[in-house]
Amino acid sequence: MKNRLTKKNIVSLAEKSLKEVKNSQWVENVKKEYLGKEGVITHFFKIISREKKIKKKKEIGILLNEWKKKLVEKIISIEKKLKKKYQIEGIKSSIDIYLEGKKNPLGNFHPLTQIIQDIYDIFLPLGYRIVKGPEVETEENNFTLLNMPSGHPARDMQDTFYLKNNFLLRTQTTAIQPRLMKKNPNTELKIISIGKVYRRDEDDSTHTHQFTQFDCFVVGKDISFNYLKKTLEWLVRKLFNRNQIIRFRPSYFPFTEPSIEVDSLCSLCRGKGCGTCKKTGWIEIAGAGLIHPSVLKNCSFNSRKFTGFAFAFGLERILMLKYGIEDIRHFYTNDARFLHQFRMNN
Ligand SMILES: [Zn+2]
Repeated sequence: MKNRLTKKNIVSLAEKSLKEVKNSQWVENVKKEYLGKEGVITHFFKIISREKKIKKKKEIGILLNEWKKKLVEKIISIEKKLKKKYQIEGIKSSIDIYLEGKKNPLGNFHPLTQIIQDIYDIFLPLGYRIVKGPEVETEENNFTLLNMPSGHPARDMQDTFYLKNNFLLRTQTTAIQPRLMKKNPNTELKIISIGKVYRRDEDDSTHTHQFTQFDCFVVGKDISFNYLKKTLEWLVRKLFNRNQIIRFRPSYFPFTEPSIEVDSLCSLCRGKGCGTCKKTGWIEIAGAGLIHPSVLKNCSFNSRKFTGFAFAFGLERILMLKYGIEDIRHFYTNDARFLHQFRMNN
C-alpha cells in the first residue's frame, strides 16, 4: 500500500505519521519508518523523481514536501521537549562530585572543660595530686570537721539541698580536705580537686544553684601565708595569660585563719561599676587562707607541727572575667552560638 503514490494515500499516511509522532516513545521509529533511507517519504520522493507527467510530479511533490516539513517540525519539537525532560531528570538522579558536600560541624570542648584541663596542666608539673570527691557528701566532711558544727551561723551562707541520713549535696569542694586528711594523718599533701558544688542560691547573672569549684590545699611543715599569696598571684597570671589586676581583702571563713578573699577588677567595666560587678568594679573570684588549727586537729593532724593553706575558685567566674561574659547562666543553657566561640581554644 505504501508504494502506491496517490494523493489520498499521501494524506492518509501523513495523518497517521503525525499521530504516531505525538507519542514521544515512537519518535525514533517514526523517523526510521518515514524519513530513513528505506522510509516511506524517501521512497515516494524516489518514485516521483522518475515521474514523467509534470503536473502530477508537481502536485505530488508539493504534497510530499509539505508532509515532510510538518513531520520534521513535529519531530524536532518533540525531541526538544524530551531533551529538556531528560536534563532535569538527569540532574535529579545523578551525583555531581564537584558540588560542595554537606559539612559535619565539629564540636569543641565546653569552656569549663577547657579551663579544668588548663588547671591540671598548671598544677601537675608542680607535684599536686588530682582528687575527685563525691557530690553527695556527709554533713561531717562538708561542715562539721571544717569548723562549722551544727547550728553554726556560717552554714546559712552555704545553705544547700539536704538528703536523708546526714547526707547533702556538697556546698564546696573543700569537703575533700577532711576526707583526705583523716585518711592520711600528719602527711604532707598537695591536692587539687575540681567538681560541681551546690548552693541554695537564687539564680541571677552571677549566681546559680550549681557551679564548678576548684579547690586547692597544701599541708606540710612551714606552709606560710606568703606561700599562699605567691601561689594565688602566679595562678591568676597563668589562668588569664595576662596581668589581671587582683586584690586581697581580709575576710572570715570558719575553716581558715587568717582568711582572705581575692577580688579581680571587673573586666566588663574596667572597674567603673556595672550590673555584673554590682557597681563595685570588683568581682570576688576566690576565698583563701591558712587552714585553721582546729580543722587540722579535727582531721587527726598535729597542728603544732603542721600548717597548711587552702583556696577555692568558682571557675565560671574566672571564665566570665577572662572572656567578658556577662551572665553565668550562659554556661548551662547549651546554646551552640555561645559554645562555638570557644573553638579556637581547642
Ligand atoms: Zn563591672
